[in-house]
Amino acid sequence: MPTVIYQGKAYECESDETLLDGVNRQGGTISYGCRGGFCQSCMVKAVKGTPPAAAQAGIRPAMKKKGYFLSCLCKPESDFEITPPDRRDEFIPATVTGLEYLNPTVIRLTTKRPDGFNYRPGQFVNLIRPEDGLARSYSLASIPSDGELAFHIRLLPDGKMSNWFIDHLQCGTEILLSDAMGDCCYRKGYADRPLLLAGTGTGLAPIYGILRDALASGHSQQIRLLHGALSSDGLYYDQLLRGVADKHNNFSYIPCLLNEAAPEGGLSGPIDSHIPAQLASDSNWVAFLCGDSEVVTSMRKSCVTHGMDESAIHSDAFG
Ligand SMILES: Cc1cc2nc3c(=O)[nH]c(=O)nc-3n(C[C@H](O)[C@H](O)[C@H](O)COP(=O)(O)OP(=O)(O)OC[C@H]3O[C@@H](n4cnc5c(N)ncnc54)[C@H](O)[C@@H]3O)c2cc1C
Repeated sequence: MPTVIYQGKAYECESDETLLDGVNRQGGTISYGCRGGFCQSCMVKAVKGTPPAAAQAGIRPAMKKKGYFLSCLCKPESDFEITPPDRRDEFIPATVTGLEYLNPTVIRLTTKRPDGFNYRPGQFVNLIRPEDGLARSYSLASIPSDGELAFHIRLLPDGKMSNWFIDHLQCGTEILLSDAMGDCCYRKGYADRPLLLAGTGTGLAPIYGILRDALASGHSQQIRLLHGALSSDGLYYDQLLRGVADKHNNFSYIPCLLNEAAPEGGLSGPIDSHIPAQLASDSNWVAFLCGDSEVVTSMRKSCVTHGMDESAIHSDAFG
């Protein structure tokens, strides 16, 4: 009978019994969900013994190499020593390189770009707190040639993750990242179409990455970036974006304040109410809409009402 060592105890698996069932039948606690090889809740890591290929179905190649397998699909034929999953294997460690306030409620967090970490500007990652796995999604404000990853994070009163960043992170601290996800990205096929980039608050993070990607790709049609904020404090990249506009004739920066008079070159009132006028200035637009969910929904409706095809509208709603 094969023996399984798990958390310092030995368990014997009967013939035809899965490792999950054998360990749990004798008082072990491997967590599980579907018990059918889909949910991956029962994933464990072999530190001794070779998992059968069938028990590694659907597991990422890098994790397979490290000995991860699904205990619900493994009927052991020889002895094993296993451990619970290690978050450092599941996610990608990244070292914090900087944390600065962009205004009183928004920070810019940067990390080293881990070796082999690939992404497209505008995508987001899950940032994970190593000690307990708390995870939140944040959009990348950087582009790959920057070398480091950058995030704009709004500090929410009582926000578990955002406050942990300012209370506990410093240069050199290690956090964990998921792979980059999402499809709110510039494409070469958009080169001859006007771009509307509109975001509220830290919704500027992905559209700033998309803007830089488009400019670096030599986008020659007009690009309009609307940044919406409650008050002038919220326009945290105002000077920087005015500088970009000075250098690129085809780029306009249009700050938009909800509760204050229009700033120089900008607008006042809800950002979504200004979308139709922007779109009226040209045709064949591609839109990127990011930030507060309700505003993103409302801006999307404006684009559709204007006759834009859904496939030309990309968005990330921050939930
Ligand atoms: C695809 C995606 C990309 C995102 N990108 C970014 C980004 O680039 N920058 C960024 O700052 N955030 C971004 N978010 C939001 C982020 O994931 C977190 O929801 C946010 O930081 C709150 O986390 P927290 O743990 O600090 O607050 P929590 O502890 O989760 O919440 C604290 C309080 O704030 C409220 N709350 C939570 N989220 C929001 C919100 N978005 N707006 C208003 N109130 C909220 C909660 O209801 C609660 O009352 C993104 C979300 C998604 C889904």
